[in-house]
Amino acid sequence: MHWLERLWPDEYVADIQQIDLDKLRANGYRLILTDLDNTLVPWNHPELPDALVDWLRAVRQRGFSVCILSNNAGPRVNAFAAKAGVDYIAAARKPKQEAFRRALAQFGVPPEAAVMVGDQLFTDIQGGNRCGLYTILVLPIAEREWWGTRLVRRLERIVLRRLVRKGLVIPQRKVKGNE
Ligand SMILES: [Mg+2]
Repeated sequence: MHWLERLWPDEYVADIQQIDLDKLRANGYRLILTDLDNTLVPWNHPELPDALVDWLRAVRQRGFSVCILSNNAGPRVNAFAAKAGVDYIAAARKPKQEAFRRALAQFGVPPEAAVMVGDQLFTDIQGGNRCGLYTILVLPIAEREWWGTRLVRRLERIVLRRLVRKGLVIPQRKVKGNE
């Protein structure tokens, strides 16, 4: 597979709220693996926003299983996942395939029936694509990030520009209402 192809998301949406859950379900997907930081909440953000609680409920109502797949450390992910009431794998070392495979095995779901949602090309999307999952890229929620991520973002911007030249469309950020 060409390296650019491995970084190409199947979908690119502004945020998780824009994911068409019904369409995913109709297409046979039943497990949603999702990144945590800057995908579900701002980086290292401890709270569980109401909008996310509603989204998780909508996901479950449609019969999806959910599992957080985060490269962040155990305690951070554990605390958040417990609050959200979802399964998780911390220190996942995405884009390595091992954590993805472990999650699939845990839920007894083949790669063709699983989705990976995340805000980073090199970890979330590349890892998901390597494992044959349906990959959905979201815009990062906040600018504040781990220093390592900030460095990777520079490289990511270069790759994104290449993908855009080949036809990837960057979604418009939705204007937030009063929360
Ligand atoms: Mg992230």
